[in-house]
Amino acid sequence: MPTLAEVLEARTADAAPELIEHIERGRIRCYACGHECPIPEGAAGVCKVRFVRDGRLHVPWGYVGGVQCDPIEKKPFFHAHPGSLAYSFGMLGCDLHCSYCQNWVTSQALRDPAAVSAPVDASPQAIVADARRLEARVVVSTYNEPLITSEWAIEIFTAARAAGLMTAFVSNGNATERVLNYIRPWIDLYKVDLKSFDDRHYRQLGGRIDPILFTIRRLYEMGVWLEIVTLLIPGFNSDPDELRRLTTFIASVSPDIPWHVTAFHKDYRMSDPENTTPDMLMEAAAIAKDAGLRYVYAGNIPGGVGDLENTRCHQCAALLIERRGYLIRSYRLTAAGACPDCGTGIPGRWGTAFGGQIASSPFLPGTRRLRTL
Ligand code: SF4
Repeated sequence: MPTLAEVLEARTADAAPELIEHIERGRIRCYACGHECPIPEGAAGVCKVRFVRDGRLHVPWGYVGGVQCDPIEKKPFFHAHPGSLAYSFGMLGCDLHCSYCQNWVTSQALRDPAAVSAPVDASPQAIVADARRLEARVVVSTYNEPLITSEWAIEIFTAARAAGLMTAFVSNGNATERVLNYIRPWIDLYKVDLKSFDDRHYRQLGGRIDPILFTIRRLYEMGVWLEIVTLLIPGFNSDPDELRRLTTFIASVSPDIPWHVTAFHKDYRMSDPENTTPDMLMEAAAIAKDAGLRYVYAGNIPGGVGDLENTRCHQCAALLIERRGYLIRSYRLTAAGACPDCGTGIPGRWGTAFGGQIASSPFLPGTRRLRTL
């Protein structure tokens, strides 16, 4: 039986020339993520899925680690075509190793023997055809870290765009200037997980904070629609001062960037902290609004966080989109994406009309059987 690493080694292509540099002593520097690994012959980068052999950087290609149809609210995007279906695929591997990861079966497949997830061969044409069959609006690279598999994502996104679909990354944001320039022509929406505002915390997870802050600034400058999520973990990133600095930073980039603060549930290896309570989310949301953010949402506790699942006009406070969990209960934006009461434009990527909601729960494409990944 081949090992998972051997199975994946057979499913690779050459790295995009934009994402590599040949450096001293025969090594190749990879720019697909903020680690910028200098990789010698015969070795792999920190992510373990990009490796150098015969003087070439091999990168993941031609498979998916999982596919699922999600309401776009689950990604979460709250200001991009509410109610639409997000055809979501992942590959395997990650460049961080968060002990609380909720997608650890795919993200840690090469690090953790308990995280077994077999790749399934796939083609862009088949993925896009399936997305269209299910009337998805967006194709999303998610579940593992999409930056480290950018070449395959762009191959799929090229086909998705040609079919009139939008595209998105759900990412930890540990990017480089080069990879953002590489994906920019092909990406519409980007979700960044801003996990903390403390570099020591990021180092515990295997990263640094600076590349993530750079990514947020750069995506905004590039005009990619950006929403930010922070999983609120009691005792890890819940200090009010840290939350104040984190949300002040986002507001300094733009007060129009939606911020989702979501509840932690004990998971994977991080079982010490208590679960996040609705009160904790509401206190964090109050800090964010005080910092100047206009669109603040609380997630993972449907029906338990009052008005923090809804979108209100930042000008006149009119209720524009009412939600419970992933379910859209009402939608009042105008065709131009404005408040119907005061006419203020609401930042986002809106359709000219609400198209209804295909599903308010995730399902598998082949079966439509409900399942949470
Ligand atoms: S994607 Fe990141 S972790 Fe993987 S080889 Fe490239 S720079 Fe290193």
